[in-house]
Amino acid sequence: MTHPFDLTGRRALVTGSSRGIGLAVARSLLEAGAHVIIHGRAAAGAEATAAALAEEFGDAAVSAAAFDVTDEASVVDGIDDIEAVDPLDILVNNAGVQHREPLLDVAVEDWDRVLRTNLTSAFLVGRTAARQMIARGDGAIVNICSVQTELARPTIAAYTAAKGGLRNLTRAMTAEWAGQGVRVNGVAPGYIRTELTQALVDDEEFNAWVLGRTPSGRWGEPEDIGGAVVWLASSAASFVSGQVVFVDGGMTAVV
Ligand code: NDP
Repeated sequence: MTHPFDLTGRRALVTGSSRGIGLAVARSLLEAGAHVIIHGRAAAGAEATAAALAEEFGDAAVSAAAFDVTDEASVVDGIDDIEAVDPLDILVNNAGVQHREPLLDVAVEDWDRVLRTNLTSAFLVGRTAARQMIARGDGAIVNICSVQTELARPTIAAYTAAKGGLRNLTRAMTAEWAGQGVRVNGVAPGYIRTELTQALVDDEEFNAWVLGRTPSGRWGEPEDIGGAVVWLASSAASFVSGQVVFVDGGMTAVV
């Protein structure tokens, strides 16, 4: 009997998987048997990561794609190219950026860039992929949210607004697409050690705050996130849609 978490025969795109959380999620999907398309802005980065994974998982298990998730024409071309090869069954909207500055000082350009990369991208990539998934009556989308989906901290307002919006976009997509076979859920990581957060890990005061504020008493690692994504993408979650799973060492459970 096939294990309900088994993703053999499924094809998954993880945006922003050239490194960080996206790369770890890609590994988890590969371990579950999926074919994974490694993605980044630059083709060279995505191809290099895909080549390294192919050595471990085999050439047939991995491919690469590059497009800017904030640009609709690039997104449509990118998804068309992927669908021209084989159907896309699983989409993980992971690409994201942060901008840290007091809200009173944030330039509109920085606000727009953060909203566009973390929120508008999920709308653009999500609906482009969903058009094909709906036509087939089958698909799973996982939006990578954040503890900032639930909690606010100073100096990260645009990101907080974007990730809160992404939670409600997950619900809105479910409202429109779940009846047509496309489930949409979110995974909200706590503080995870990646390039995005390296400056915070290196900041003694911030590091102490994270360790004290996280009941598990540690930073998360990118490898902590993949299990929840695999579950939500798999048939084990076939009646789960519109939800966000917090993978945060208990941070959002306590005050
Ligand atoms: P990284 O900075 O390590 O990686 C970001 C990835 O996104 C890269 O692959 C990058 O590709 C890609 N990307 C950024 N902008 C674009 C764009 N316009 N078009 C295409 N790809 C793009 O980030 P993390 O791994 O830390 O974060 C991944 C996700 O997890 C983000 O959504 C983040 O908000 C979320 N998250 C992270 C947490 C953490 O503590 N690290 C906590 C909670 C959520 P390229 O190589 O081309 O730049």
